[in-house]
Amino acid sequence: MALETIDLIGRSDAGPPLADAFRRPITYLRISVTDRCNLRCVYCMPEAGLPWIEKREILTYEEIERIVAAAASVGVSSIRLTGGEPLVRRDLPELVRRLAAIPGIEDLALSTNGLLLADEAGPLAAAGLRRVNVSLDTLRPERFESIARRPGLERVLAGIDAAIAAGLAPLKINCVVMRGTNDDEVAAFAALTRERPVFVRFIEMMPVLDNLDAQRDAYVSSDEILERIGAVGALQPAPGPGGNGPARYFAFADAPGAVGVISPLSHDYCETCNRVRLTADGRLRLCLFGDYEIDLRTPLRAGATRDELAALFHGGMLIKPERHHLRLGEPASRMRAFSEIGG
Ligand code: SAM
Repeated sequence: MALETIDLIGRSDAGPPLADAFRRPITYLRISVTDRCNLRCVYCMPEAGLPWIEKREILTYEEIERIVAAAASVGVSSIRLTGGEPLVRRDLPELVRRLAAIPGIEDLALSTNGLLLADEAGPLAAAGLRRVNVSLDTLRPERFESIARRPGLERVLAGIDAAIAAGLAPLKINCVVMRGTNDDEVAAFAALTRERPVFVRFIEMMPVLDNLDAQRDAYVSSDEILERIGAVGALQPAPGPGGNGPARYFAFADAPGAVGVISPLSHDYCETCNRVRLTADGRLRLCLFGDYEIDLRTPLRAGATRDELAALFHGGMLIKPERHHLRLGEPASRMRAFSEIGG
């Protein structure tokens, strides 16, 4: 490890814990490690991909480590690695090892499409990863290929098994529900929670610049999703698995798992927002929607100290908006895909 890195790590007096102008404590940082992905999900990315960020603009693992050390010094305790698809970046366990060693980081999680998880789950767990969320929108192989524009359902299911075997728990499956595409599978997904200790979360499809018409037509509210699951078995409100998210949970009697809904459009949860994001090219993004960002990479590469970086996190608190203004079929920012900023 480079000397300058050692200098930057450790508990600090870099100021009080982060809280924004609306007195929300900010303890959770989601980090995009790449904007690239090995799938092309119809609601997320165009078939041809996007103009990728150049390699030299992407933060190195050492740079991410320095930013997380700064964030930890002002109270960030939970990290989620996301993308793009984080497992397409080489040697992700090396980054996990570095982040797990930072004092103050208590929770280290990963969001993945699961395609490469079967081989990586063991090394990731050994490196210090605690838990994993797998995105999966269908349990039918042909449908998988038409939603993701690539085959791979078997590999994703093997990845889920490998993650459970590696002790990456609680395991959450995230499913974006689309009318006319996979909304007939919500009961089948919910049934998984009767067999296994998994948390299946249904996410309302969100508008980004490239999917506005599709989003208007395909959107299904979480209340409708719960109604449709309730028709095949009674759901009771249930405690969630813990973590940092905005899901509301429900369970069938005696089920080892639970069903969750994430409702960015129909139920506002901005009030309890506890998170900020780091893009793959080093911008601190204060809200998923709305273009509120601070460039951390330029000062980082100019030699900013941990405390100077921590001060930039504090600066970000001043521009974190109170809420997003998502509306059906309307973009709330110039964002074209979640992969650009780490969804
Ligand atoms: N590749 C990783 C994965 O599949 O989980 C991490 C990045 S992916 C962008 C994160 C999540 O964002 C996935 O669960 C994906 O389904 C979701 N997502 C992407 N675009 C979305 C949209 N327009 N509406 C709702 N969810 C979306």
